[in-house]
Amino acid sequence: MEPYEGLDFYDIESLLSEEEIMIRDMVRDWVDEEVLPNIEKACEDGVFPDEWRVALGEMGVLGAPLKGYDCPGLSYVAYGLICQELERGDSGLRSFASVQGSLAMYPIWDFGTEEQKNYYLPKLTSGEWIGCFGLTEPDYGSNPGDMITKAEDKGDHYLLNGAKMWITNGTIAQVAIVWAKLRWSNSWFHR
Ligand SMILES: Cc1cc2nc3c(=O)[nH]c(=O)nc-3n(C[C@H](O)[C@H](O)[C@H](O)COP(=O)(O)OP(=O)(O)OC[C@H]3O[C@@H](n4cnc5c(N)ncnc54)[C@H](O)[C@@H]3O)c2cc1C
Repeated sequence: MEPYEGLDFYDIESLLSEEEIMIRDMVRDWVDEEVLPNIEKACEDGVFPDEWRVALGEMGVLGAPLKGYDCPGLSYVAYGLICQELERGDSGLRSFASVQGSLAMYPIWDFGTEEQKNYYLPKLTSGEWIGCFGLTEPDYGSNPGDMITKAEDKGDHYLLNGAKMWITNGTIAQVAIVWAKLRWSNSWFHR
């Protein structure tokens, strides 16, 4: 198969750094060699090939722009280029990586405790663990205002009750960021 030459009507390439081009080309080659020849079968079989999880971790794709905690610390431009190449391979593959990095890892990176960051982020960036983000619900879609799922503070843990649907990576994840309302006096607040 001929290597993919991206269309670039506005000469965007001239604005990219050497590192950004290198990362884009690495992911581009991997998509050509590993994803495109196998995506149809993976789709038909309804599986996410495990070796792709490992490869994405090794290439520095998972949590690409996050700094510290073993994360790659790449530019947001590089992250955009990575996602563009993954999306060219398959939208589900791009979702796998962007849900992991932006929806599961980012909230931990920005809002987590130091202990949570040290515990979760190295394993998520390497691909050892898979993360998901559960906001959408069967009754009210992704409208958090009417969300039904509730969290109760049980002292050393939260008890979650509710239902989520359409959660990317939801069936294969070890780590879940779950949206729920927390009871505070007589009303329920988001948590
Ligand atoms: C492949 C896939 C992966 C997903 N992964 C995840 C995930 O990982 N985690 C997660 O939590 N959710 C996930 N979702 C759910 C997704 O985020 C929601 O389905 C999406 O945000 C739409 O929200 P909704 O279902 O509430 O629809 P709505 O926002 O209610 O939209 C329904 C319809 O109403 C229209 N509409 C909405 N608001 C207005 C308005 N103000 N004016 C006019 N029209 C309007 C919309 O255009 C649309 O046609 C996924 C969905 C898909 C399809």
